[in-house]
Amino acid sequence: MSTTTVGFIGLGIMGGPMAANLLAAGFDVIGYNRSLPARQRLADRGGHAAASVAEVAGVADVVVTMLPDAEAVEAVTLGADGILANARPGTLHIDCSTIAPEAARTIFGRAADREVGALDAPVSGGDQGAAEASLSIMVGGRETDFRAARPVLDAMGRTVVHVGPAGTGQTVKAANQLVVAGMIQAVAEGIVFLDAHGVDTEAAVRVLSGGLAGNAVLDRKAGGMLRRDFTPGGRLELHHKDLGIAQDAAREVGAAIPAGATVAQLMGAMVARGDGALDHSALLTLVEELSGRGEQ
Ligand code: NAD
Repeated sequence: MSTTTVGFIGLGIMGGPMAANLLAAGFDVIGYNRSLPARQRLADRGGHAAASVAEVAGVADVVVTMLPDAEAVEAVTLGADGILANARPGTLHIDCSTIAPEAARTIFGRAADREVGALDAPVSGGDQGAAEASLSIMVGGRETDFRAARPVLDAMGRTVVHVGPAGTGQTVKAANQLVVAGMIQAVAEGIVFLDAHGVDTEAAVRVLSGGLAGNAVLDRKAGGMLRRDFTPGGRLELHHKDLGIAQDAAREVGAAIPAGATVAQLMGAMVARGDGALDHSALLTLVEELSGRGEQ
């Protein structure tokens, strides 16, 4: 039985460990990233570092992309030297980046013109989920393509669900980002409130985790918030991008998202003041400032 060759483009905070998990699952992985150190890390783990997107697309059975935004995904996928220009008919493209549903549908259409299958398969679970292969993966596209992609997706994630036709994976991811933003804001407010009352915040977080207030942000991010360690993780600038997508998508259908819109403003302010490269849990620092309690 021949081994599936998986191409992987975008070997950053998420893509690096996801590609490593594909290698661990026994796939041949050929990867490309714009910067050299990320390519070198893939080679060190037993993958093949390619010199271009075209080289990856020319040999891969499945090409996964994990890039920052739609601009990068479109350049890599639709560009003159991109995936569709170089892939063989029958290749499957799985885009795990977070982009607008409309952009995902455009890519699906252009891929279909080249007889390339396309899935939008954004993920949730952060860098920890990527490292542990425990991501939630929300997949839009054709059922047959989903079935073909399943072994690759299962090597990177634990909760892998086909949610509907092309673009719907991204719609679900937009909702995911609304929920996560709300949770970060709520946890940040809780911590600032407790700190202002002089309560032992570490003990408080522990007990909150076991009750109805328990959530993944409290479990995975509160520790870093208390230590004031805002190493990304999920960068504020990327979450800001995602809330823009969610706000546009909400407006399109008349869905009211007042809490989401408020957090979007706060994340936007963080990016505007130059904090976009911090982890999104750094939202805590803005809540502190609004409470007159900045870092002493
Ligand atoms: P990242 O910036 O760490 O990784 C992106 C990588 O793509 C970088 O290594 C960059 O060099 C590379 N790249 C950019 N443009 C390129 C191009 N044209 N050609 C080749 N390589 C290129 O970002 P990330 O945190 O890994 O996020 C990737 C995507 O996943 C984003 O859409 C983000 O919103 C989404 N996401 C991130 C997280 C998280 O916690 N970090 C969680 C879920 C989803």
